[in-house]
Amino acid sequence: MATPGHVHDHDSGEGLVPVDEARERVLSTIKPLQPLALPLTEAYGCVLAESLAAERDIPDFASSAMDGFAVRSSEIASATTTVPVELRIVGRAMIGERPEGTVGGGEAFAIATGAPVPAGADTIAPIETCEVAGGSVRVLAPSIGGKHIRPSGEDVRAGETLVQAGRRLQAPELGLLATAGFAHPLVHPRPRVVVLSTGDELIPPSQNPDYGQVRDSNAYTLFAALREAGAVPTIAGIVRDDVDAFKEVVFSHLTQADAFISSGGVSVGERDVVKAAFFRRGEVDFYRVAMQPGMPQGFGEIEGKPYFGLPGNPVSVFVSFETFIRPALMKMMGRRQLFRPQVPARLEDDVTGPIGKTQFARVRVRRTKDGWVATPTGGRGSNLIATVAKANGLAIVPPGTQTAHAGSQVKVILFRSMED
Ligand code: AMP
Ligand code: MG
Repeated sequence: MATPGHVHDHDSGEGLVPVDEARERVLSTIKPLQPLALPLTEAYGCVLAESLAAERDIPDFASSAMDGFAVRSSEIASATTTVPVELRIVGRAMIGERPEGTVGGGEAFAIATGAPVPAGADTIAPIETCEVAGGSVRVLAPSIGGKHIRPSGEDVRAGETLVQAGRRLQAPELGLLATAGFAHPLVHPRPRVVVLSTGDELIPPSQNPDYGQVRDSNAYTLFAALREAGAVPTIAGIVRDDVDAFKEVVFSHLTQADAFISSGGVSVGERDVVKAAFFRRGEVDFYRVAMQPGMPQGFGEIEGKPYFGLPGNPVSVFVSFETFIRPALMKMMGRRQLFRPQVPARLEDDVTGPIGKTQFARVRVRRTKDGWVATPTGGRGSNLIATVAKANGLAIVPPGTQTAHAGSQVKVILFRSMED
């Protein structure tokens, strides 16, 4: 039976929004960014917004795959080293140029690898099977029709789909689109995200703290996490716990932001600046999520731009980014897979968390011959940023489980590539 004490007990989970529901609230308001035609180098890594089909054959001319002579296969069918076929050299097919003239009976064109095949010829006699003597060539072996010729349309036929809408443009796609002449494909752009750090106690990493001062780490955690996700971060800097100054910084960045992230100032305290600035206007909702770390969260829209108000503790920032912001960014970028991969892993040590919340425990996972094994990297405190730096995964300990015991199975979100 619930006692009044439970209502305010942070571990109980009462009155808190479940993680999945909080994430759904966020994702249901997020839309893919309006597609833009971007140059290929900027379109790299973005999701294609329309399917693209080849307008012409690729390649669009037949070319030689060998250095040698472009000839008629019927004329050299009987060629041998003892009885060669002698042909008159009547032209030269050069790379990058349309060959002038036609290969007729008793004739050959000298041709280089990659050069267009002249009209009249249907095969290449490679230089290795030829002897050149003055203005003629003696062909010493037959070469059947089509041999050593790369036909037009061999790679892609005109009208065939090159890249489907929804596909992310990586190295092979970029090369293919370049070949086909799509120099400015229509893609969902990378979200530009403005990052603010709130707190009177904060100083930049380059300064030495006076007693009680804290270096701003969240801006850099978020910068890197945003870059890794494919977004374009801007660090707007440290903002004092002053409502007017804070709003000024947010609104001055409106035109260069597709989304905002702030850290700190979302709890219940008098000085919680983000809450004080946006709560009354109703633009940003503030609620408590049944998760540890990362319980207090703010989310809403400022002039139509998603606004994520994260708590200040460094681990909360990292876990909140992974839980809410990264999937939202993926959706903004038009990605189909919004979530990180998860693996089932066996815990090497006990993980104890709050019974009513989802706990995201920092672990190092490795693959063994008996499957994945997860080792916790430290305590559960949301200020312990070094536990994140040692980890490559977040083990999910669901509500209802106080202690996930050593030897038990947990799901682990992999937040680093296994190569790192
Ligand atoms: P707050 O949510 O503003 O009450 O902050 C919670 C804790 O996180 C406090 O100990 C802050 O000093 C710390 N904190 C807030 N912002 C940052 C930041 N940008 N970098 C490092 N620590 C921070
Ligand atoms: Mg603060």
